[in-house]
Amino acid sequence: MKIERIYMIPVNDAYATTCACPLCALKAKVEEDSLDYYLGPSLMEPDTRVLTNKTGFCGDHLNKMFGREINRLGMGLMLHTHIQDVKKETDPMWESAAPDKRSLLKGKDPDYRKRMVSLADKIDARLGSCIICDKINKTMARYKEVILWQYFEDASFRETFSNKTYHCLPHVAELLRDAATQLNQNQASEFVSALSKSHNNGLDELIKDVEWFTLKFDYRNKDKSWGNSKDAVPRAIAMLGGDMADAPSSEKEKEK
Ligand SMILES: [Zn+2]
Ligand SMILES: [Zn+2]
Repeated sequence: MKIERIYMIPVNDAYATTCACPLCALKAKVEEDSLDYYLGPSLMEPDTRVLTNKTGFCGDHLNKMFGREINRLGMGLMLHTHIQDVKKETDPMWESAAPDKRSLLKGKDPDYRKRMVSLADKIDARLGSCIICDKINKTMARYKEVILWQYFEDASFRETFSNKTYHCLPHVAELLRDAATQLNQNQASEFVSALSKSHNNGLDELIKDVEWFTLKFDYRNKDKSWGNSKDAVPRAIAMLGGDMADAPSSEKEKEK
């Protein structure tokens, strides 16, 4: 596996800070940088415009771009040519999408359902394609390669990964998938055991904290300490939703 050093620094930084899920922090940074890039002067460059016309942005990233309230002209120009491109690509399919009504002259149309579904698929494909999502997926794949590599090459990283970190559920699933394709059996044995331990300890803590959050509503517990439970609900949502970049880390984690 060829490891590129430029990806090591952000990975080490993310694992060194006590954020709730280092992969969420890494993803948020790539997303921020990409939003800056595509809202900046690049929006007017011919190469970028070819990309924004063809690939475009998903609804989530269009909303995030718009929400920044900058370069509205650039966004308008980009959207103008992008929508034209979508229309150009789907126009021929629209022309044949609606079947003729059946009559004495026009018999059964055997393929009309297929044509309608193909058009719907084409529209979905255009909506789902996004330059920023592509950039995030590509960069995150490099980061996860670095994580799997460093786990075996760097003892202090291994210690941090195994004992001081827990990841959100979507990123645990991603790490498992990448480990399944990139690690041999002995490596997988070690890595997955460590991931399982840190992940399940993290979940147990969270389950306890959420439970105590609910028990605090009981008048008998009114004067008892919140412990780590005050922010247990947003932490649980971030754990399930895979958006822990801004989620509070538990007091226990902060102590580590
Ligand atoms: Zn995450
Ligand atoms: Zn996107």
